[in-house]
Amino acid sequence: MASAAPSESKFAANVIIIGAGVFGLSTALAIANRHPSTSVTVVDRCTPPVPDGSSVDTTRCIRWDYPDPIYAQLAKQSQLLIEQDPELSKHFFKRGMTFVCNGVPSRFTQGWQDQYNLTKDLAQPEHLVDLPTRETLFQRIHGKDAKPLNRIVLGREPQWNVAYTNKEDAFIDAEAGIQVYYDRCLQYPSIRFRCGTEVDHINIDKGIAKGVVLADGSNLQSDMVIVAAGAWSSRLVSLGSRVYPIGHEVVWFKVTREEEMRWKAMSITTNDSTGLNIFPPYRGEVKVLRRSPGVKNSITIPKPENRSETMEISYPRTLVTNPTDIIPANAEAAIREDLREIMPSLASRPFDRTKICWISTTPTADFLIAPHPSVGGIHLATGGSAHAWKFVPVLGDLVVDSIMGNLSKELEDKWAFDKSGQSSDQAAPRMDGAPEELRDVVRTIQSHF
Ligand SMILES: Cc1cc2nc3c(=O)[nH]c(=O)nc-3n(C[C@H](O)[C@H](O)[C@H](O)COP(=O)(O)OP(=O)(O)OC[C@H]3O[C@@H](n4cnc5c(N)ncnc54)[C@H](O)[C@@H]3O)c2cc1C
Repeated sequence: MASAAPSESKFAANVIIIGAGVFGLSTALAIANRHPSTSVTVVDRCTPPVPDGSSVDTTRCIRWDYPDPIYAQLAKQSQLLIEQDPELSKHFFKRGMTFVCNGVPSRFTQGWQDQYNLTKDLAQPEHLVDLPTRETLFQRIHGKDAKPLNRIVLGREPQWNVAYTNKEDAFIDAEAGIQVYYDRCLQYPSIRFRCGTEVDHINIDKGIAKGVVLADGSNLQSDMVIVAAGAWSSRLVSLGSRVYPIGHEVVWFKVTREEEMRWKAMSITTNDSTGLNIFPPYRGEVKVLRRSPGVKNSITIPKPENRSETMEISYPRTLVTNPTDIIPANAEAAIREDLREIMPSLASRPFDRTKICWISTTPTADFLIAPHPSVGGIHLATGGSAHAWKFVPVLGDLVVDSIMGNLSKELEDKWAFDKSGQSSDQAAPRMDGAPEELRDVVRTIQSHF
């Protein structure tokens, strides 16, 4: 049985947080602020900003356009905090975000419409720009005389058909943002870091967590373990189908100074129907990612709560462990085909580099912030899916509220382990289809060039 939540005055004296991404660092800070006598140890495989962590990348979208009013309000509140934060705001670029769909009836078009309706209710009218045709969208990126390829030349049904821009949305340099949070944690005497060795397993004795055992054999004791290990969490606790690690494909193109100038008014441009997300030029590069069905990397491991049994999970295979991996050929083809319509000059340009970015995704894109269902002393703070970064200023307090049993009923239900009810993944939609097994499709630099 999981132990009862501690009362506000009786927080755990010793807490270990596994993972130094947005969930882990934000939670460490919230504990240090609210419970300064609690000793917090953050353990990570690497020193933050962790190169293959989901939270570390050149850019992440900061948007409050959601079809779900709970995330929309929370994201609005969080963005305001980012903008007011003197250090984070240095890395925040308010370039707007353009949301596109093909207009063909589907769950993606419906999600786009629901999000548009809610955003219209929440936004100042002057911040929204309607782009009702392919031409208006194309011209917003490429200038008023530009024309998109017609469907005969394109050779497929056009997909970038209807859009709106929210000029209040932004992107942030995610690596720099994590550095800000890490440096901030280092200022607190109650927060310590143990980086460079991974947690091998959580030490569970008679149904209660007692701390963690590191890969180097050392034993760290604690009263509470918070699992904030992103896509790696499924190796530390059994998460069943509540959370599933998958990888999404990301690529970068080098662009010229002239192209940077040409696209200087471009917003982040994302297509709900095809899953492509294109960032405006940043530091001489355009980043493109694909919210594809993703890839998985199946492995068999001892079941964390009963190590005499085994279970199969998907587990990140990243550039840290496999530095020569490049994205699968079918992902490359899909990205290039879609770019041909919206950013034609990039469509056949060689990639500068690629990566698979791993997320702990959930069927409804709702986070998992809840006690472990059967082991006392473990709290879960993961399931960020493809949209948790923007909540960094508020996530930690929400995790602490959850530990204290003070989350609003609405959020407690939304982020529960045994989430009831069905809803779609519209908070961060992903393309239909099952993830492919990465080892069957991955290419390596040696095999490709
Ligand atoms: C392609 C892509 C695009 C995205 N776009 C956006 C966006 O535009 N806006 C947005 O808000 N969000 C976005 N997200 C989602 C967001 O980045 C994630 O939800 C968020 O970063 C998850 O943070 P985390 O702390 O759970 O995971 P991570 O940042 O991955 O942190 C987990 C940490 O745990 C450590 N760890 C794992 N196992 C162990 C172990 N055994 N021992 C010690 N340490 C361990 C890892 O090293 C890692 O540092 C995107 C995600 C992806 C993949």
